[in-house]
Amino acid sequence: MEEELLKKIEEYKLKIKLMGIFEDFLININKKLELKDLAEYITNFIKASFNIKFCSLIINNERFSNSKINDKKLLESEKIIVKEALKTKIIILVKSTLNDTLLHDLKNDIDLSLLCIPIIYENKIIAFVNIYDDLEKIDKENSRLLNYFLNKASPAIFNSIEHDITKIKSNTDSLTNLYNRRYFNEILDEEAKNFNKFLSLIMLDIDYFKNYNDKNGHQAGDYLLKEISLIFKNSLRNKDVVARYGGEEFIILLPEADSNNALQISERLRKSVENYNFRFKENQPDNKVTISLGLTTIITKCIDTNDIIKEADKNLYKSKKSGRNKITSSIIIDKNLHVN
Ligand code: GH3
Ligand code: MG
Ligand code: MG
Repeated sequence: MEEELLKKIEEYKLKIKLMGIFEDFLININKKLELKDLAEYITNFIKASFNIKFCSLIINNERFSNSKINDKKLLESEKIIVKEALKTKIIILVKSTLNDTLLHDLKNDIDLSLLCIPIIYENKIIAFVNIYDDLEKIDKENSRLLNYFLNKASPAIFNSIEHDITKIKSNTDSLTNLYNRRYFNEILDEEAKNFNKFLSLIMLDIDYFKNYNDKNGHQAGDYLLKEISLIFKNSLRNKDVVARYGGEEFIILLPEADSNNALQISERLRKSVENYNFRFKENQPDNKVTISLGLTTIITKCIDTNDIIKEADKNLYKSKKSGRNKITSSIIIDKNLHVN
């Protein structure tokens, strides 16, 4: 009799503890508006409170995780299970990543249990939480509890997604999907502040773009801007930042690129555009669409970012003056010493 009472007391204690954790959880998630912060909080909360191995959160094709495991097959398994959860709209418990029928063909090397929970807001799945633990450690009871906890977070996740979309929109040019001038200037200021060794900047402008518009129509002009933007995106490194600076003018930040490096990148861009088979290119001078580039590299900190842009712009003007489809470059050694 006494034993039963003690058991009941323990159960109540556990329930009270869980309620406390849950309350904290709800308060905290509503304080996090940035998607990245929210994701970090949720994944760390699950790991610590439920004592699981690790977990991931998938929102808008972005994956946040608190694990260092980067096993390709396991990541592929996760994608398969998430797809299944998207299809069935229910939680999926994979008892063993080695022996599950859905993952059979992958032949996983790591054997874990995986619980995939779709997060639903207003009848739509807005995120997935994937929970990994040792075999046999995730049971139906745990799964139900986690599902309940996490789905209470869905309004907060939805708000963060909306916030993220608004932020991306305000930083992006709607025609080309590149960053806009305002956001680029912010990034450039930040990069200049954290200057390490080199920083290069390219200003570039489409040659005879007015002619392209006049001969082929404004819509064709828009197509050209979009197509060229894609070429830039595909030709640059992940850490490079490209933005639409104005009408048919673009600006590219190459962090840590020295002058040789930056010149190589500029040449690659120039050639890629010159050799690309654009629609109506036969209506352009020399039967090709080309760009002119102005490049500058700084090798010391404390140079005003406006001066860097001015220098790249001056070089762009020189490329135009000397016949177009060209690159002009310089190195700014300090505020008053520029070398071509
Ligand atoms: P240059 O070789 O000297 O650069 O000559 P250009 O003809 O390229 O330059 P100009 O400044 O004379 O003309 C730029 C044109 O770009 C004029 C403007 O109508 C057009 N433009 C600006 N923004 C857009 C846009 O969003 N879409 C389209 N289709 N055209 C645009
Ligand atoms: Mg132009
Ligand atoms: Mg122009």
